[in-house]
Amino acid sequence: MVKISDYNDISAVEAVQQALDKVAASESYHALLSLTKERALERAAAVDAGEITGKLAGVPFVVKDNFLAFGAPTTAASKILENFQAPLQATAVERLEAEGAICIGKANLDAFAHGGSTENSAYGVTKNAIDQTRVAGGSSGGSAVVTALDIVPFALGTDTGGSIRQPASFNGVVGVKPTYGTVSRYGVVAMASSTDTIGTFATTADDASLVMAIMAGKDERDMTTLPDFFGAEVLKPAQKIGIIREFMSDDVDEEVRDRVIEYAEKLKTAGHIVEEVNLPMIKYGVGMYYIIVPAEISSNLARYDGIRYGVRAQNVQTLAELYGRSRDEGFVTENKRRIMIGSYVLSSGYFDAYYQQAQKARTLLINEFNALFETYDALIGPVSPTPAFRIGENAEDPVKMYLADIMTVSASLAGVPAISVPAGTTSDGLPVGVQIIGQQKSDAQLLALASSQEEN
Ligand code: GLN
Repeated sequence: MVKISDYNDISAVEAVQQALDKVAASESYHALLSLTKERALERAAAVDAGEITGKLAGVPFVVKDNFLAFGAPTTAASKILENFQAPLQATAVERLEAEGAICIGKANLDAFAHGGSTENSAYGVTKNAIDQTRVAGGSSGGSAVVTALDIVPFALGTDTGGSIRQPASFNGVVGVKPTYGTVSRYGVVAMASSTDTIGTFATTADDASLVMAIMAGKDERDMTTLPDFFGAEVLKPAQKIGIIREFMSDDVDEEVRDRVIEYAEKLKTAGHIVEEVNLPMIKYGVGMYYIIVPAEISSNLARYDGIRYGVRAQNVQTLAELYGRSRDEGFVTENKRRIMIGSYVLSSGYFDAYYQQAQKARTLLINEFNALFETYDALIGPVSPTPAFRIGENAEDPVKMYLADIMTVSASLAGVPAISVPAGTTSDGLPVGVQIIGQQKSDAQLLALASSQEEN
């Protein structure tokens, strides 16, 4: 697979042109919603002329279409933002551009990042890079697929409850959900503000680390950002690793469990101590997540009212009708479901029973993670209970779809870093990822551990 260092020897214009040619040859995957071709070629010429330099000079990349970026609309894969031209760029994009990287296009996602299969895009489903009858995963499905197809060496995504890790595992690439607050979310369409994170897909852990280190750090326009800890972190190798027992039950696909066990064996061979651990609160993770996250969504999505942005319903008589019709036409079913669940759990009389209980449970979950991190440097387990499922298989059953998030939502609720690394395939050739979770700010350490296990 292509790596960032492979771009050292070709000109930026050639690199961008090659990426665009590969996009044209991969149209059937429907991984991209738009191209930023003109701007990309202009920037590439500037790199070749020596006007733009940096650690990623001339390296093409893709962003999920919920990042504001110049050169193409930012739709968040929704109709309500169809044709929305960003007036500014996301800090993450700006930082990569400052190092000479070149954004070539914007990837498909579940509308507003609500989903785990990219089937909720208002513009059609993205197909899995290995088997086109299967889902790409989601919500950052398009970004995972362009990385897996070697169109670009890295692509950005957002992960609120698994949206980078799960598609990474479904397509056989590395995916990083950093510590909450690592990368500024300024200029990225908000989903759930207490768990939204910006991360990347790459083909190696070292490349992912490089990209994360460039994006990380304080940004005064996002008050939740942490001072850059990526470079400062002491890279002590992980010693003790726990396998999360709750994730290895019979409900989990046997081949997925086998790949995790093999990965654990490899870690043991490399000299790590690997033991089974319990994280009992994790079984309530999906329950907490699907109360807290819709609550935050219902608030964050209130701004899409048909007046300030995007699509506005026509031929309406009253203001209420304008709001109602614009939102009805502009959101997909899953967006509406979450707005309704969120409004319900926040409403008077139900707030205590749902939202407040979920937040209390979240604290207990965080305590359990913290207790484990006193003894263990990292925890491992599957990313998803199954490999990529078939397109349409879970689409009609939201609860089934939500339950598939069981292994990723807890790290999001706890704000801890979690990465997905390729760990082989099933007998059908479908990729399986292993998840490595660490304590806050151990991101670079987790990536170093993953890197040490990669075959060169
Ligand atoms: N699948 C999860 C959800 O639907 C995660 C989404 C995400 O991380 N954006 O909420």
